[in-house]
Amino acid sequence: MLRVGITGGIGSGKTTVCSIFEKLGVPVYYADLKAKELVNTNLELQNKITHAFGQKSFIEGAYNRAFIASIVFSDKEKLELLNSIIHPFVLNDWGKFCQQYTNKPYVVKEAAIMLETESKNSVDYIVLVHSPMELRVQRIQERDGVSKSEIEARINAQMSEDEKLKLADSVISNDQKHSLIEQVLTLHQKFILL
Ligand code: ATP
Repeated sequence: MLRVGITGGIGSGKTTVCSIFEKLGVPVYYADLKAKELVNTNLELQNKITHAFGQKSFIEGAYNRAFIASIVFSDKEKLELLNSIIHPFVLNDWGKFCQQYTNKPYVVKEAAIMLETESKNSVDYIVLVHSPMELRVQRIQERDGVSKSEIEARINAQMSEDEKLKLADSVISNDQKHSLIEQVLTLHQKFILL
């Protein structure tokens, strides 16, 4: 069974692409959503986070996102520490997900950060969802109601698109010129034959 990673920066359209794979019956694992779920449910993970960041990390068992964000927002080392604590739990959970679907030709893992970290080693093939900057800003503005400068700052803090394009195995263009469905179908045909 092939493990396919779908990645892309904020507003690139990776969730939209994954919803098409789901419609084709492909199991999709949403890594960022899973991470959010695990910090609220996995006691061992919660203990590790509390050990690293203190008792305020949880309020009556619920992850104190605002507190943790205030620590990691301006401290790259702390952010790396947080990611290094959470990552093994998501990796283990992804492994269990894959085991459930060994009868399928392939499964998909969606994650915003993949090409940048060792997370790329948890899949066999990486598809980058690529979208022009102006469109990404416009979509995020419409979806989240945040300012243009805030979105641009978030995008610029991520790995450059040129770098990502070099590292990906395939690219889906979500640019309103190419059909998303056709591009997903082409990849689907390829993956079921691989
Ligand atoms: P994030 O990482 O910020 O969650 P994402 O890469 O998963 O973003 P989506 O949530 O799929 O991106 O897309 C961002 C917004 O743009 C959504 O509201 C989505 O419905 C819209 N969108 C994305 N692609 C298209 C498209 N091809 N046509 C119409 N709307 C689109």
